[in-house]
Amino acid sequence: MSIDPETGRLADVPFLPSPHCDARPEGMLPDLIVVHGITLPPGAFGGPWIDDLFMGRLDPSRHPYFASIVHLRVSAHLLIRRDGAVTQYVPFHLRAWHAGVSSFAGRQRCNDFSIGIELEGTDDAPYAEAQYASLTRVIAALQQAYPSLRAMTGHEDIAPGRKTDPGPGFDWARLEQALAPHHWAAAAAKGWASGARLAIMST
Ligand SMILES: [Zn+2]
Repeated sequence: MSIDPETGRLADVPFLPSPHCDARPEGMLPDLIVVHGITLPPGAFGGPWIDDLFMGRLDPSRHPYFASIVHLRVSAHLLIRRDGAVTQYVPFHLRAWHAGVSSFAGRQRCNDFSIGIELEGTDDAPYAEAQYASLTRVIAALQQAYPSLRAMTGHEDIAPGRKTDPGPGFDWARLEQALAPHHWAAAAAKGWASGARLAIMST
């Protein structure tokens, strides 16, 4: 898995362009990865609905729940499905609209400086083996292409009281173990008091 620095895209994964993105602030590089969980409609796996939401083409007549979200202009850089399949919607050098009102280490507007990765899942059900495997490969590729990356956290951590994803179903310790060869470790254990779950340790 690799990233083309010209296009800001992962090679060999489908790219479905979202209109819900814009430029990052001048000179700003991504230093944070935000992990999310999403299902549409809530609790249901599969279907094209997440693609449709991020691409601004969700048909509200297809499910009663959709009328309540069809106005949202949201996106993420990536979605990882239950089977580990990866889809990209926004090039990494652009700002995807995934975090909303948010704060990390005293900095507001996390979209400015983060990469948003959605995992198909609910807060309480365990995420799938294949999703951890894909996420690990994606992160290894991202840190190669964007050496500015330093930390990783959950949407619930940067928007507490407003968001609950990826929730207790997401096993941070498991991700830490998978990413250890890439120099990631639990942030708290290393004295980071920033709200990060995992951080890249200098070698
Ligand atoms: Zn989220």
